[in-house]
Amino acid sequence: MSPRLDLHVHTTASDGWWTPARVVQEAVARGLRAIALTDHETTAGVAEAQAAAQGTPLEVIPGVEISVGGPEEEIDLLGYFIDPDHPDLQRLLEAMRAERVERIQAMTERLAQLGLPVPWEEVVELARGDVLGRPHLARAMVRHGYVTDEAEAFRRWLGRGRPAYVPRRPVDPREVIALVRAARGVAVLAHPGRTGIPGNFEVLWRAGLAGLEVFHPDHSPDETARLMVLAQTYNLVPTGGSDFHGPEPDGRILLGTLPVPDHTLDRLRDRRPR
Ligand SMILES: [Zn+2]
Repeated sequence: MSPRLDLHVHTTASDGWWTPARVVQEAVARGLRAIALTDHETTAGVAEAQAAAQGTPLEVIPGVEISVGGPEEEIDLLGYFIDPDHPDLQRLLEAMRAERVERIQAMTERLAQLGLPVPWEEVVELARGDVLGRPHLARAMVRHGYVTDEAEAFRRWLGRGRPAYVPRRPVDPREVIALVRAARGVAVLAHPGRTGIPGNFEVLWRAGLAGLEVFHPDHSPDETARLMVLAQTYNLVPTGGSDFHGPEPDGRILLGTLPVPDHTLDRLRDRRPR
């Protein structure tokens, strides 16, 4: 069975390289059945993507990726089928975006202290009014010739535990899961192979976690197999996606290339609060 779903996709609404319309165009060209837009702490790209998919066989599922991690472990949650207009969810996302700006500002200050000054206006300009993220800072560092590519920026300066790293202010993941459910969505734990199974996994599960992202480009075959067993053990829906941000450094486009089973969408839909 050829892969026809991609449930983890970023656009220029957060830190992706392509506009929502451009991503939809590519997904249609690849013959995908559905994609979920999961921009960081925003649903701003959903309407554009859905409009672009009008009249095509592609379904665009409204989604969001929410980082709840603290200093100990970084946990990302994915929300699917959410009502993008739900006021309480939007209030949370707005507060988190404000916190993101403060955090990237603090990291910019740290870089200056480290002798790698990047003008703040330039970072903001790179984000073009969309949700700020570390990738924008990394792009500015490449521009200034401090690093050769974004990966190096993360490896040496911006990654967890590196000199310019500032952790996010933690958010209670139970609150996030409750809000996703209030907005009639389902919550899924993102790429647990990359970040590790969090110590509070059972807490998330009891709070109403619906799925586990099993298929992800960063997961080795062993991790994928192990996560599949964990999903089955806890009766969670195994999900997956390419975590698409744009073409890879070598030009490959991973959109829609992960083996996400076709019935995943129906299984997730079944978990929506009524
Ligand atoms: Zn992501």
